[in-house]
Amino acid sequence: MTTVFKFGGASIKDADAIRHLTPLIEQHGDRPLVVVVSAMGKTTNKLEALLAAARSEGGTQGDEYRQCFKALQADHHEVLEALLGGSPDAPSERIDVLFEELDAQHRKHRDGPHAKHYDQTVCYGELLSTTIVAAWLNHHGIATEWHDARKLVRTDACHQAANLDWPATLDNIRERLSHSDRVALTQGFIGGTEQGEATTLGREGSDFSAAIFAHCLEAREVVIWKDVTGLFNADPRRFDNAVQLERISYAEATELAWHGAKVIHPKTLGPLQEKSIPLTVRSFETPDAEPTVIDAERRFDAEVPSCILREDQVWLEVRPRDFAFMDEPRQHDILGRLVEAGLHANLVDSGAMRFALCLDNKPERLDPLVESLQADYEVSREDDLTLLTVRHPRQGMMDTLGEGREALAERRNATTSQRLFHSRDCPTTWRIPGLQAE
Ligand code: ASP
Ligand code: MG
Repeated sequence: MTTVFKFGGASIKDADAIRHLTPLIEQHGDRPLVVVVSAMGKTTNKLEALLAAARSEGGTQGDEYRQCFKALQADHHEVLEALLGGSPDAPSERIDVLFEELDAQHRKHRDGPHAKHYDQTVCYGELLSTTIVAAWLNHHGIATEWHDARKLVRTDACHQAANLDWPATLDNIRERLSHSDRVALTQGFIGGTEQGEATTLGREGSDFSAAIFAHCLEAREVVIWKDVTGLFNADPRRFDNAVQLERISYAEATELAWHGAKVIHPKTLGPLQEKSIPLTVRSFETPDAEPTVIDAERRFDAEVPSCILREDQVWLEVRPRDFAFMDEPRQHDILGRLVEAGLHANLVDSGAMRFALCLDNKPERLDPLVESLQADYEVSREDDLTLLTVRHPRQGMMDTLGEGREALAERRNATTSQRLFHSRDCPTTWRIPGLQAE
């Protein structure tokens, strides 16, 4: 049965990191083994900066573009040189060809729609990283076949957030990967349309890619290799007594991701759940450490409360102008505008004469929404807020967490409590009440 490994940017950030992942693959003898890889380190961010430079006034001739481009090229050649310098196995020419293609794509798309330009260029991060990793593995004696995910993961042309064409993807992946006795190495995050144009699945989408491959091949397991030993019940940088979760269900992991925990891409769990494929999150630095396992078992979900912070939140209170009720047609109207603006409400509250929403502060989307609402309603706006969400809070926990802080809004159901605070009232490091750090 197939296993799917996913390596994110941090696990291949430089030559040393790539060397370190070799034994993890080597020790896994069973085939098929599909390895899904992201772009190296922060390459995707750098490609986004390159894109911005290409679309700025100086375009692909401008200094900024040329500098960004050269830096990216140098980074990749440096890693290749460190890994395979002097070896005939080093795909230096292939890397140059990919950079030539990247440059040509920028020239071709710079005056066209942004989202399409984005996908035709940002996909090169993964194309480059996988070219290097495949060459390294083969050089190291691990028979590896490089696959172009643009030809396997079929999507529509909704650029930057492409939707899967599952039947075509299933056929492609089964046909090409089912019987491989070599490691099948491919790119996360990217796909392609029927017409052969590149698409992307949304930032951090490589987890989702791994789930797509696993689903199509009815894999035994997906392993996401990370720089942490597993999933934590809170961001350890913000909660000083955060602990690792040993086992949670697909549903719980989806809730955590939905509420803003930067755990795994929220679309990842669905395709795995459908085929009951467990997902293990392990550390590539300490592979023997206890991992986190995500599967269908719900028994352990409430064992440990989880805390999630969403910062830079905005609270909008919308009231009818004519002292009328905030009835369903009005709520429908407001939510319709929200959908149109491409925004998601992190918390909603309503009353007889008000409808209030907590939103991420994305000015390019939020400002037009506020303007549109102001045309028909009274709108008040509060900025610089932090939304705290707790899954499975224990008795009294929310009150302790909220002590000395005014809550602008609160919401609570059987499994989840949320409070919205002024960020200025929040500590830099939180402590989860009643929980011992290990
Ligand atoms: N390289 C892409 C990103 O940084 C996809 C991923 O890492 O999952 O967003
Ligand atoms: Mg990444």
